[in-house]
Amino acid sequence: MMSRIYYTKPSITEREIAYATDAAANGWGERCYEYIDRFEKLFCAHLGVNYAIATASCTGAMHMGLAAIGIGPGDEVILADTNWIASAAPITYLGAQPVFVDVLPDSWCINPQKAEEAITSRTKAIIAVHLYGNLCDMDALLAIGKRHGIPIIEDAAEAIGSQWHGKRAGSMGIFGTFSFHGTKTLTTGEGGMFVTQDADLYEKVLTLSNHGRARGQSKQFWPDMVGFKYKMSNIQAAIGCAQIERIDELIAGKRRVFEHYASQLEDLPLAMNPEPPGTINGYWMPTVVIDEGTPFDREILLEEFKKNRIDGRVFFWPLSMLPMFDDKPENGISYGLCQRAINLPTYHDLTSSNIDQVAKVLRAHIKRVEQ
Ligand SMILES: *Cc1c(COP(=O)(O)O)cnc(C)c1O
Repeated sequence: MMSRIYYTKPSITEREIAYATDAAANGWGERCYEYIDRFEKLFCAHLGVNYAIATASCTGAMHMGLAAIGIGPGDEVILADTNWIASAAPITYLGAQPVFVDVLPDSWCINPQKAEEAITSRTKAIIAVHLYGNLCDMDALLAIGKRHGIPIIEDAAEAIGSQWHGKRAGSMGIFGTFSFHGTKTLTTGEGGMFVTQDADLYEKVLTLSNHGRARGQSKQFWPDMVGFKYKMSNIQAAIGCAQIERIDELIAGKRRVFEHYASQLEDLPLAMNPEPPGTINGYWMPTVVIDEGTPFDREILLEEFKKNRIDGRVFFWPLSMLPMFDDKPENGISYGLCQRAINLPTYHDLTSSNIDQVAKVLRAHIKRVEQ
């Protein structure tokens, strides 16, 4: 019997184990921030940004960033309907309102025109989430931001390794956020990163991230404002250092898996993650969207995956479908995509024969339903 194919799994080598062991044994006292400082510096160098703050999660990084740019009660923040709730929840923590707009049919990311149409006098930001490694149209979004004086934020949790015309995802907006959850391309178990090019914003978030204690404050235990506690531990950062030193290899692994799927599935009536000219896709999650009109039943496919010891993953539901938000069925692309799409397993050590096996089950399903 074939071994189980997980939908994702981190790549942990001797290097991660050695650094984490060192942090656990020696990373205390005056050395308690060493791996954190190093991880932040290496991450800045990788991304091509000036400032990074390691956090406990991407959700925390987004919460602090939104707070730092002054989002509060009554404000609106625009983002795509097709998303994971982590991108929207921090908006609600601050008493502001997420405004969900439809996505583009090919990138599954926010439709810039719909975003612009949704702008009101209350709009305080647009969040560009690069879904499954696919890039938002950053030129269009940054131009809209400029026209209306609204900051563009990037949630690049799924887009490490993705590049937009030579710029890395997460480095183009007023700030960017990353996740190092166990399912992400680079992992620290749990964890995240806030990045920015803006020195003032960096200082604000640094203060917020340390319970409101400013760097220059000489009085001990004297916060200047109420802040947050979303810090990464030194042991997590040690694992992060090993992962960022291996980042080219980790991204190459994601691209290898995607390209193998793409070559196996190219004759089928479906679309996969796009990589338009001038961009590079980090392919966090290889995703298939079955062509409209082709019979397809996601639940039956997931059952067939299960029988073959393959983990499948459903495409994100439109957030506006969830009970805590108002329905927005006019977001027709978002409402249609989730019925016709599925994420395929991907991880560093996934073998070619594993990929062939997944492709075979998917192919058989499409052929069977077609008849
Ligand atoms: C994973 C993910 C998050 C959440 O990250 P956490 O580190 O779990 O908070 C946020 N946004 C996107 C797009 C994600 O994929």
